[in-house]
Amino acid sequence: MEIRFWGCRGSLPATMNHAMIRRKIRCALEQAVRCGVDEATDLEAFMDQRLPFWARAAYGVNTPCVEIAGEEEILVCDAGSGLRDLGLDLLRRGAMPAAVHILLSHPHWDHIQGLPFFIPAYTPGVRIVFHAGHPEMERLLRIQQSPPFFPVDFDQLAADIAFEPLPPDTVREIAGFRVLSCEQPHPGGSYGFRIEAGDKTVVYSTDAEHRWDIDILTSPFLEFFRDADLLIFDAQYTYADACLDKEDWGHSNNLIGVELARRARVKRLCLFHHEPTLSDEDLDKFLEDTRRYANLFEEDESSLDVCMAYDGLNVVL
Ligand SMILES: [Zn+2]
Ligand SMILES: [Zn+2]
Repeated sequence: MEIRFWGCRGSLPATMNHAMIRRKIRCALEQAVRCGVDEATDLEAFMDQRLPFWARAAYGVNTPCVEIAGEEEILVCDAGSGLRDLGLDLLRRGAMPAAVHILLSHPHWDHIQGLPFFIPAYTPGVRIVFHAGHPEMERLLRIQQSPPFFPVDFDQLAADIAFEPLPPDTVREIAGFRVLSCEQPHPGGSYGFRIEAGDKTVVYSTDAEHRWDIDILTSPFLEFFRDADLLIFDAQYTYADACLDKEDWGHSNNLIGVELARRARVKRLCLFHHEPTLSDEDLDKFLEDTRRYANLFEEDESSLDVCMAYDGLNVVL
C-alpha cells in the first residue's frame, strides 16, 4: 500500500512568504560556514545530516488531500487544495487511473476547495466517484462551484462523475480496498476512514475532537484505530491550546493522539491537519515535543513511531 500526501494543513492554506524562505537560507548558510562546506562536500548528505527539516524542506501549504494508490483505480481522502497538485501529477503520469474515488470526510471548505482546480474533472473519459457520509454532498459541491463563487459551473465538469453514499459502520469495497467509515465528533459531523488491503491498514481520521474528559480507555475509536500500520490523525493543536481557548473547536491535540494510538496498538502515528499559522520551525518543535511524550512510554511492548505529514511525503506499508 502506498500513501502519498498532497495536502496536510488544516483550515486554510498556509503562508510561505519571502521572510520565511530567507530564514531557511540563512540557517543553511550559517551551518555550511560552520561545517566548512566546499566543492568536495556531498551536499545532499550535508542537508540531510546537518540541517533541521524546517531549514532544508517544508511541511507544505495545501489543505487536506491524501492519495492511496491502487492497482488500476486510486482512492483519495478529501479534496482540499492539495487535490490540484494531485491532478497535475496524474496528468504527468500519462495513463489516467480507471477511476478516481474521492472519500470526503465532510464539506468544510478546507476539504473541498481543491475540486474546482482538479484538471482531470474537466477531462472527458475520466471517471470520478465521490463517496460521502453527508447526504447533501453533491448539492454542496454544486454550490461551491457555481457563480458568483466560481466562474466555471459544476455542470461544466466533463468527466463522468458519480456520487455514492458511504454510511458509517458499513464495510465497502472501493478501488480494491476495504473501506470502513466512522462518524467523528466535529461541528456539523465528519467521517474517518479505515482502509485495508491484504494485511495492511491505514486510518485517515481528521477533523475530530477527542477530549481528555471522555474516558479514552472506553473510546469507540480504539477499535476503529486498532492495530493500524498508519494512523493519520488530526493534531492541529497543542495540549494547552486544546484544553484552554480552543476547546470545542472540533480538533484534537498531539498528546491525546499518542494516548489513543498507544492504546490501539497503532504502529505509526502521523500528525496531520497542521495549524496553518505555525511555521515549519514551530512544527519541527511540535513533532519533537510529541516524540518526547511518546518516548515516556518506551517500556511499552509496542513502540509507537511518530511522524509529521508534509506535502510530498510518501509512505509505503
Ligand atoms: Zn479541516
Ligand atoms: Zn472541519
